[in-house]
Amino acid sequence: MNLTHSRNLHLYSSLDRFKFLKNSYIAKIMMVAFLGTHIPLLALLFSFVISNSFSLAMTLQVLSIALVATLVGTAATLYALKYLLAPVILTSATLRNYLNTQALPNLPTQFADEAGTLMADTTQTLHELDKLIHYISNYDELTGLPNRELFRIQLHQQLSQCGNAQPLVGLLLIGIDDFSTLSQSLDRDTLRLFLRTFAQRLKACLGPSLILAHVGPEEFAIAQTDITTIESIITLAQLLLSTQAKSSSIEGTIIRATASIGVAMGDIKDAQGVDQLLQHAQIALQHAKQQGRQQYQFYLPEMNAQLQERLALENALDGALERGEFCVYYQPLIHLKSGKIAALEALIRWRHPEWGLIYPDKFIPIAEANGLIVPIGEWVLRTACAQNHGWQMAGFQPLRMSVNLSARQFEQANLVAVVDQILKETALAASDLELEVTESFLMGNIQRSVDTLNQLRELGVSVALDDFGTGYSSLNYLNRFPVNMLKIDRSFVQDITSNPNSAAISNAIIALAQSLNLSITAEGIETQEQLNYLLDKGCDEGQGYYFSRPVPAEAILPLLTASFQEKLQLPETAAQLLQFSKAS
Ligand code: C2E
Ligand code: CA
Ligand code: CA
Repeated sequence: MNLTHSRNLHLYSSLDRFKFLKNSYIAKIMMVAFLGTHIPLLALLFSFVISNSFSLAMTLQVLSIALVATLVGTAATLYALKYLLAPVILTSATLRNYLNTQALPNLPTQFADEAGTLMADTTQTLHELDKLIHYISNYDELTGLPNRELFRIQLHQQLSQCGNAQPLVGLLLIGIDDFSTLSQSLDRDTLRLFLRTFAQRLKACLGPSLILAHVGPEEFAIAQTDITTIESIITLAQLLLSTQAKSSSIEGTIIRATASIGVAMGDIKDAQGVDQLLQHAQIALQHAKQQGRQQYQFYLPEMNAQLQERLALENALDGALERGEFCVYYQPLIHLKSGKIAALEALIRWRHPEWGLIYPDKFIPIAEANGLIVPIGEWVLRTACAQNHGWQMAGFQPLRMSVNLSARQFEQANLVAVVDQILKETALAASDLELEVTESFLMGNIQRSVDTLNQLRELGVSVALDDFGTGYSSLNYLNRFPVNMLKIDRSFVQDITSNPNSAAISNAIIALAQSLNLSITAEGIETQEQLNYLLDKGCDEGQGYYFSRPVPAEAILPLLTASFQEKLQLPETAAQLLQFSKAS
């Protein structure tokens, strides 16, 4: 049977053209039955009209009997048809009812003819369709886990079974670290398989009473309603972290991904309580990520305040560059043997009209996260280069200007072109610019980093490895990265004279730099003792509050003047320098 064949619908559609039949299927059938049952009567009438062999009385008698018989027959036929059509009408009403109210049908299923199968199949199809709709709207198709909506419902249901004894609920929100980078580096199918593996690993860690759901693209939630001790939650969080830290092999691709966990606990009274607990776990998760990832954090009320502050900063940061709220401070790097200024490091500051001076540690991570660091970093580079050229024009000998690069900036495909363009724009010689990078972002894609660094070096720009000693400090890679300078991180210099470990690390870094023919700067020199120690070990340059804090451009001028007139003698001038910076 050809179901698409519409020829069978000819009569149906012809009748449908009549206005009075349009809205009723029964009326169409009745109409046909009515006309059909009147054919014998009409035939009789016609034969009487064309023949004149019957008397009038006879004609009237036969016709009236025929008329009454036809009317009774028609009425009986129409009455029976109406009931025979009931399956179709009932099915239609049932479908309509499901569409309007989602009420599932309960039509009879015992009949085998077409009308019977229509009712039975409609019932079965709607039941299956309903299950499918429920699944699609409550389960995540990728992992087969409940979604956020069903998670809330299931948790609430489990809690309502506990009666009045409101139990303590533990909610763990698990987020995949660096998900956006991960999803960019994998094709769609591999990413889907990875998420499935991630979900299966979570499932494998859980007992039967725990509820697991996929609540966001990179987030999973676990709820436990029968917590006996907080330790049990901690143990679970640790187990989840260590399970996810293992690399997974997806169709030949080795994927290393870690997770962070936000934990919130509380007793839940209603559905709103579930939402609030989820919100708290979300805040704790963000905190865990900010604290360096691959860890769990319990929600604390003060986190809310931190989040509010971050949000406020994020809002205020939007447009701050256009409103001219940033400025650059400069901190000298002193050539330790001569005591002269060897370079200046450009350090950004944000002068907020209401909140005052804001330090980069507060806003650089936010700008890095939302991408604003790219235009901001470019502005710092342009400002510092223009300033450096300005000082040279004012008659000072050329100095190196050191500018920090962020990971995002370093990843920009046009970084080298931008640097080149800024050097040309500001007429600064490339040899007077140094860019500071950190190992952590060079390690992301080693070959690409090596290429970029080489291109920068080809421009004539020098490169310093900042915060050295805190990252990988791998000799193997250090050898491959074409850098000119290592900057020993402040944390080692801080206790170099009191902590043998810090001293040993600093000594090793200095020796390493010397063997690789790299210059070495010590950051964060604050005391004469630290300076003496570093001088003794052969460190080339030093930077720190002992010489000067970072100061605005105008406050650097007297230092530059002293340096060039060779009046900048250490350590005597140090106190004097400090005064400048304290005053600023
Ligand atoms: P960094 O590159 O390690 O810069 C050195 C930081 O140490 C500066 O903090 C400086 O003020 C501080 N410092 C210098 N000497 C001493 C000292 O003797 N004792 C102590 N306790 N601290 C000292 P600042 O200016 O707050 O900058 C913090 C970080 O923000 C910088 O660390 C850098 O990573 C980032 N940053 C600053 N400006 C920029 C920028 O323009 N772009 C990018 N991407 N990052 C920047
Ligand atoms: Ca730096
Ligand atoms: Ca540093």
